[in-house]
Amino acid sequence: MFAVGLSGGIGSGKSTVADLLVDYGAILIDADQVARDIVEPGKPALAALVERFGPGILDADGRLDRASLAAATFGDPEALKALNALTHPAIGIEMVEQRAALVDQDVVVVFAVPLLREEHKALLHFDVVVVVDCPTELALKRLVEVRGMDRVDAERRIAAQISREERTKLADRVVDNSGDLRALTELTTSLWAWINEQRSAHDRNVRG
Ligand code: ATP
Repeated sequence: MFAVGLSGGIGSGKSTVADLLVDYGAILIDADQVARDIVEPGKPALAALVERFGPGILDADGRLDRASLAAATFGDPEALKALNALTHPAIGIEMVEQRAALVDQDVVVVFAVPLLREEHKALLHFDVVVVVDCPTELALKRLVEVRGMDRVDAERRIAAQISREERTKLADRVVDNSGDLRALTELTTSLWAWINEQRSAHDRNVRG
């Protein structure tokens, strides 16, 4: 396995890049998807959330109602800390397990992690880290105009993230998504070539 950590701020374009890499043959492990999977009915993390925040966070079918959970934690740092403490370890364990299932295969695995930090690099043994970056104003514009997100909500989410500078510091390669979608597609084609160069160099090193 060659492990690629992929990150970027909200609306930066990382899902678009991840999907293009999958088209090239990469396997995607997406932290956002894992975060949804670990709170499916019957999973321990959901029971822990109900214990902490009450049954009001469930919908009529007993599934997590994200809007109610967001309302229960909004503007409350302690509640947010509790939410993270109850979910992040389960997300980490699940991603480590998915990694372990692929580790002996001759594949490129892309781990999409929105809030990538140094400890994720160590936990998931990324061979390289790629960060998709674009000016904050542009990310905001795309979230509001392309995805139809509420502007205030988008601004609040962007403000809660680490800065662009902090994020790009972790990167071995930065994909600049300040152009149009065609430009991003071309940059992702070069990114895939670069990933495979890194992978070949890595394989040569491993073989000695
Ligand atoms: P999130 O963190 O919210 O999942 P993201 O970083 O994964 O966001 P995307 O979903 O890839 O970002 O992109 C955000 C929106 O902007 C999408 O609707 C996408 O189609 C659009 N988009 C991404 N890049 C471009 C671009 N270069 N030009 C125009 N639209 C773009």
